Amino acid sequence: MKLNDKGLLIVLSGPSGVGKGTVRDALFAMKGHNLVYSVSMTTRPPRAGEVHGHDYYFVTREEFEENIRAGKMLEHAEFIGNYYGTPLEAVSENLNAGLEVVLEIEVQGAEQVRQKMPEAVFIFIAPPSLDSLYNRLRRRGTESEEVIRQRIEKAKREINLAYKYDYIVVNDTVENAADKILAIIRSEHASVKRVLKNYKKMLGVE
Ligand code: 5GP
Repeated sequence: MKLNDKGLLIVLSGPSGVGKGTVRDALFAMKGHNLVYSVSMTTRPPRAGEVHGHDYYFVTREEFEENIRAGKMLEHAEFIGNYYGTPLEAVSENLNAGLEVVLEIEVQGAEQVRQKMPEAVFIFIAPPSLDSLYNRLRRRGTESEEVIRQRIEKAKREINLAYKYDYIVVNDTVENAADKILAIIRSEHASVKRVLKNYKKMLGVE
């Protein structure tokens, strides 16, 4: 029995360094779901092992700006000197085909999606502590102490925005976090506000 005509849009967001990408990977590695990942577009150069069209669409600033001008981005943001954004067409097509689409994006982008598609499910991925965030950022080894300090301050401001989300998932362990996200998606499928109208229509009850 299918009560939703359209698929769910699931937005995973949260501070930088919280491990959103790792949680997303664990989520997609789990069984028992039919999720589609929305591949983002970025102007940052590929890291070793990253594949165009799989991890990101790697484009130039000119190409990215052309996509913005043409209204082809659902959302976009500038993050540490590079553009990141979600191409709209693939998201719309997949949702219309009834598929569940997952975005993994930073918080400014999530805010734009909230304006345009408030019916999406917004999940805030949060660090278990500020120390854990600090350790993660240090372990990456790519940023100076000063930049790490700025990131932590930014994370605190972003945590203050968590009230705008539907759910908060603390990334204590990656498996736990991915498991909770799957449970949230299942619950949303039984949400009265999402399914009651179609259910009554199906029964012919007004
Ligand atoms: P990274 O360069 O480490 O792959 O990603 C940097 C940040 O950009 C991460 O917080 C990631 O979630 C975010 N990000 C990735 N794709 C998008 C996107 O399409 N839109 C927005 N707004 N942020 C994105």
